[in-house]
Amino acid sequence: MSARQKKSSDAVFRDRLFIGGRWVDAVGGGRLPVIDPATEETIHEVPAADAADVDRAVTAARGAFDGGWGGSSGACRAEYLRNIAAAIRARRDELARVEVRDNGKPLPEARWDIDDTADCFEYYAELAEELDGRQGEAVDVGTADFRSTVRYEPVGVVGQIIPWNYPMLMAAWKLAPALAAGATCVLKPSELTPLTALEYGAIAEEIGLPPGVLNVLTGTGADAGAPLSRHSDVDKLAFTGSVPTGMRVMTAAAQDIKNVSLELGGKSPFIVFEDADVEQAVEWIMFGIFWNQGEVCSATSRLLVHEDIAPALLARLKEEAERLPIGNGFDPGVLLGPLVSEGQYRKVRGFIEDGLIAGATVLTGGDRPVGLERGYFLQPTVFTDVREDMRIWREEIFGPVLCVKTFGNESEALRLAHATDYGLAAAVMSAGLERCERVAAALRAGIVWINCSQPTFTQAPWGGMKQSGIGRELGRWGLHNYLEVKQITRYQSARPWGWYLK
Ligand code: NAD
Repeated sequence: MSARQKKSSDAVFRDRLFIGGRWVDAVGGGRLPVIDPATEETIHEVPAADAADVDRAVTAARGAFDGGWGGSSGACRAEYLRNIAAAIRARRDELARVEVRDNGKPLPEARWDIDDTADCFEYYAELAEELDGRQGEAVDVGTADFRSTVRYEPVGVVGQIIPWNYPMLMAAWKLAPALAAGATCVLKPSELTPLTALEYGAIAEEIGLPPGVLNVLTGTGADAGAPLSRHSDVDKLAFTGSVPTGMRVMTAAAQDIKNVSLELGGKSPFIVFEDADVEQAVEWIMFGIFWNQGEVCSATSRLLVHEDIAPALLARLKEEAERLPIGNGFDPGVLLGPLVSEGQYRKVRGFIEDGLIAGATVLTGGDRPVGLERGYFLQPTVFTDVREDMRIWREEIFGPVLCVKTFGNESEALRLAHATDYGLAAAVMSAGLERCERVAAALRAGIVWINCSQPTFTQAPWGGMKQSGIGRELGRWGLHNYLEVKQITRYQSARPWGWYLK
């Protein structure tokens, strides 16, 4: 442990960048505070990487790619992935606690994240092994004169930039498929939640991952993210975050035609028909907007409820929202923690003020919970009397704020659902499964939940339509994010070609 590494009550917080298998200080020597959002205390500092560190990390990743990782077998990479999963499982509780201090989420949710993280590495270990069996697959080109086969090759050096809402899990969604594919990684976590990203460095070291295969740079978007996006030796950028930043990353990628995948924001609708069970609806509506403090890209933040069921449903929703236990993520029974940062807290409160000024009604919440004077805590909030032109209806709030509108029939519900630039997720609830399937097919969203909202599976594709992104993560689609497809075509006829030489 270096002198500056800090021991919290539960864990060691790393305090250096992980580049080329070594712990190093940032070239410029800058540091960034890490703040516990439940207490507003600075609990640690991490290095503020800049362009010089990006260059070192990309060079290390290139060296590792060319030095063997890029040409290794899927079976070999699968073993490393399983070892990463095992190392994560062995430290499950400790990592979950680090996540609570860094992000604020309730401990049971953090444990769930860590389990999903380990599952993700195990899943992609299987896909890495399968990949070996798919190399050299023949393609029928319709003639026996040629034999065409396909190879799946790793894309190369990948820059991976992630947000703060699921710090360790969002990294896993990128690292696991990239490593499975044979790519090498430079991971740039959010400056708001850098701690578990650095733990990936510690795990790589522990399991003996070849140096340079996985590099971790903590730093701001402007000083570390932007230079990573425009580095000429990065082959692919995988980004998760907001639409404005996604536009910047895509613009940078366009300068030298880098491969790019984007997982961006959302303003996802939840359509509840008149035949839905009110109790089930309330449960899933709450899970759709209050889970993880509503800091979820796919949060179903726009509720569209049939006018016949609206009064009963909203009365029950208000009751349950007001019973939600709010507090420090470590306190037993807490289901809503603080927002991640002061900036996010101000942003969400700004939206609430904006909604009130625009004439929406607060059905419940809208303020700091009584008795929680420190920390970025906010009551679960539900707005009614929302108009379509209001910012709270149109823009991603990324907090525990639900906006409600009623509808009279299916086509009106679909029209309201579609009136957005986003297309990440949507949910529909009805006792009529045929209706659910019809609406699910009509919805312009990458993910549609029927009679639930938010359950996410490593095996199923994840990503958005419209301004919610480009490409898909998770499942076999996630692996293909990091693969180049090469055709090898052989002329195998004994006959001369005979075009010029007759
Ligand atoms: P953000 O766009 O502010 O930041 C995301 C990351 O980009 C951070 O690591 C940040 O440091 C970095 N960054 C900032 N400026 C950059 C630049 N100019 N060049 C390169 N990198 C830069 O987003 P956030 O506030 O961290 O996260 C919230 C957003 O993420 C929401 O919009 C949410 O919907 C989205 N999100 C999407 C998904 C998904 O799967 N679609 C998942 C989680 C979060």
